[in-house]
Amino acid sequence: MQHRLRRRAALEAAKGAGADSLVVTHLPDVRWLSGFTGSSGAVALGRNGAALFTDGRYTTQAKAEAAGLKVIIGKGSPGVQAATWLTEYKTKRCAFDAANTTVAGLEAMRKALPAGQRRSFFAATQGLVARLREVKDADETARMRRAAKLGCKLFEGVLTNLSAGETENEIALVMELEARRAGAEAMSFETIVASGKRSALPHGRASAAKLPHRGFVTLDFGVILDGYCSDMTRTVHMGKATAREWDVYHSVLEAQQAGVAAVVPGARCGDVDEGARSVLRKAKLERWFTHSTGHGVGLEIHEGPRIAAKQEQVLEPGMVVTIEPGVYLPGEFGVRIEDMVLVTERGHEVLTKASPKVWIEL
Ligand code: ZN
Ligand code: ZN
Repeated sequence: MQHRLRRRAALEAAKGAGADSLVVTHLPDVRWLSGFTGSSGAVALGRNGAALFTDGRYTTQAKAEAAGLKVIIGKGSPGVQAATWLTEYKTKRCAFDAANTTVAGLEAMRKALPAGQRRSFFAATQGLVARLREVKDADETARMRRAAKLGCKLFEGVLTNLSAGETENEIALVMELEARRAGAEAMSFETIVASGKRSALPHGRASAAKLPHRGFVTLDFGVILDGYCSDMTRTVHMGKATAREWDVYHSVLEAQQAGVAAVVPGARCGDVDEGARSVLRKAKLERWFTHSTGHGVGLEIHEGPRIAAKQEQVLEPGMVVTIEPGVYLPGEFGVRIEDMVLVTERGHEVLTKASPKVWIEL
């Protein structure tokens, strides 16, 4: 049912872009519109209804997952099949996602069309389905709540493993093993375990480095559960901290809380970013906050909206965004704190609240 509503919304959006049909090849979009989770598929929406295109490996799976949708099994590129199918029904103009189509992919689709339609058939659009996916429905928010909860559980669980001399890789392994045991399909990105001086690397993937006797450890990780990604960061301290470390941690925490507080329906994404950033500016740490405040998350780990400076986009109920300010002092240490936040009708709900952000000294 929800897939049918989504397809209707997508076709409406294509019409808004001046097309009478839509071909979708980006797999997260295909999944969102059809329920199909295979690695080769395309959805066509047009005057003649909707269909899912895939190949013989997925006959059984596609029919089960995309129940209620016409499934057409063919050979070769599903995008090509989808586009040619649309031309059989007097389609005039077909929207496609330029942000997720290669030049070669477009060329292949175009070549397969009847000669008379090659020039005017395709209309380039940008993230038409991606924009619809930004607002999650009740089924999606339920899944994201569960994914976020599992993330929190992994963090609580790994705390006992954090001891000096243990490698970052070992810590990541423990979390990944637990994630699988709890039903996760995969991690949503390569687990970040950045300890000591490495905590100053915003993307310090787990390495052979050993956890120090004294210093920060930043853990940034997520799972994919029921198709949906979680994403959270906690930074803990090993041993006794310096006053400077304590101060920086609490400035980042204050910035993060200000960012979360700014997440309300109607807020401009740029203002949410500024909510977090201004705290670090006052603490004279802004120049070390070298990335944007957050991003949307869902079927993909990075989606819209972008929570970044000057972004005009407005938050809507159902959006799920991360708030993750950080401060990175090269050669010294870094701190990042990240929550997943759902925009609600009246404000927000922190999905990763099961793991408090208080100072943790191990
Ligand atoms: Zn993260
Ligand atoms: Zn993130």
